[in-house]
Amino acid sequence: MPSRSYVFHGLTNSLCSQCLTKVEAKIIFEDGGVYLLKHCPTHGREKVLIADDIAYYKRTQELLKPGDMPLKFNTPIRFGCPYDCGLCPDHEQHSCLTLIELTDRCNLTCPICYAGSGSAPHQKHRSLTQITRMLDSVVANEGEPQVVQLSGGEPTLHPDFWAVMDLAKARPIKHLMINTNGIKLAQDHQFCRRLSTYKPGIEVYLQFDSLRPEPLQALRGVDLRAIRQQALAHLNEFNISTTLVVTLKKGLNDQEIGAIIDFALRQKCVRGVTLQPIQIAGRVEDFAPKNHRYTLTEVRRAILEQTRYFQPEDIVPVPCHPDSLAMAYALKWQGEVIPLTGLLTSHELADLLPNAVIFEQYPEIRQRVFELFSSGHSPQSATRSLQQLLCCLPLVRVPAGLTYENVFRVMIVQFLDAYNFDVRSVKRACIHIVHPDGRIIPFDTYNLFYRPGSQGYAKITAMKI
Ligand code: SF4
Ligand code: SF4
Repeated sequence: MPSRSYVFHGLTNSLCSQCLTKVEAKIIFEDGGVYLLKHCPTHGREKVLIADDIAYYKRTQELLKPGDMPLKFNTPIRFGCPYDCGLCPDHEQHSCLTLIELTDRCNLTCPICYAGSGSAPHQKHRSLTQITRMLDSVVANEGEPQVVQLSGGEPTLHPDFWAVMDLAKARPIKHLMINTNGIKLAQDHQFCRRLSTYKPGIEVYLQFDSLRPEPLQALRGVDLRAIRQQALAHLNEFNISTTLVVTLKKGLNDQEIGAIIDFALRQKCVRGVTLQPIQIAGRVEDFAPKNHRYTLTEVRRAILEQTRYFQPEDIVPVPCHPDSLAMAYALKWQGEVIPLTGLLTSHELADLLPNAVIFEQYPEIRQRVFELFSSGHSPQSATRSLQQLLCCLPLVRVPAGLTYENVFRVMIVQFLDAYNFDVRSVKRACIHIVHPDGRIIPFDTYNLFYRPGSQGYAKITAMKI
């Protein structure tokens, strides 16, 4: 009797990548990879790699814990997930990070842009009234939002950018990020000086895809190396916390992950690197899904192969959305990079960490981490301290000179698109975008269905009539 060539692991709902119809999907293990096997009545069978590491994939499924709920939901359940965003009462996680798009306009027209931004006449800035409503929606849902990210388009082009900063700072937002391509930061020293007056509690989320001209040309349409260097010079001068954000296309810039992490570690202002495979949504030119799609586990493997700092146990699933987010925390200390996350087992991490994507803002955790390394432990003695720490027996005092600037994090953020879509996963999505009408919508579904002009926008609009 013949056997299947794969192990049938489970069943979920996905989307047909061609027409976005919701279709049943088998999750199978085959040849070391995890795949979705889907069948669309119109477009037929589709097999999509979602992870190239079965053991890690299984680990993400073991790490689940109860989600944290927002204070309110914004839409009723009517058509089923993902057609009711949101957040509808069926969503399983609050907003760890919420994007507010200030504008559709941009001073670049990148060949890849999930927002399809540019300088066409129909692309507009949001009014201050709209932005106020969007900020208030986040606060109504979250109470004290953990992270709000001003985004776009290019948010620094908004004519009332400083008024928006004031509006945001006047609200109980714990951490405010500015998601930018860096052109304004590079060209306007005065702008950076003024931005620094909003410290602490702000961070620049700086597009930084490559150290080479070819990938920048391919992803951004321009060689931005000089711009990025100048922007970082200003950010270093004013010591404004910065995360470098790398959009990854397999075969284009995936061999630079280690070099970019090394570069980031040498920048005083840089607190971490976020690695994001391209989400197939919006403007995605010159992209062949079969060749260029990149999964979270492949990125994790590349970090391990291309850096000398991390071991497999150091890059762990983030408990709030473990199949889409992974992280490694380290300390930069006296010229060394000391990984932290591997000192804890996954379950200790899941218990210790809140449902959040950034932990530095939790004074208790920050204090614990700093205490752990406060006497220049070797990793071995640090491990012992950590065990005692977990038992609430801190051993040591925090030394002078050890600060948040010593913390360095590497994040992998893989958004769902019509290829890897898994309805079980999207319900846990915790990175959200505020719709101008006040709805809070997962980043993943916003770019597929809810952004005007997106592939599924007509489908959703027709449903609601
Ligand atoms: S993704 Fe979340 S908010 Fe959207 S329909 Fe599904 S459960 Fe509701
Ligand atoms: S990806 Fe960013 S920088 Fe590029 S066009 Fe879109 S908004 Fe502008």
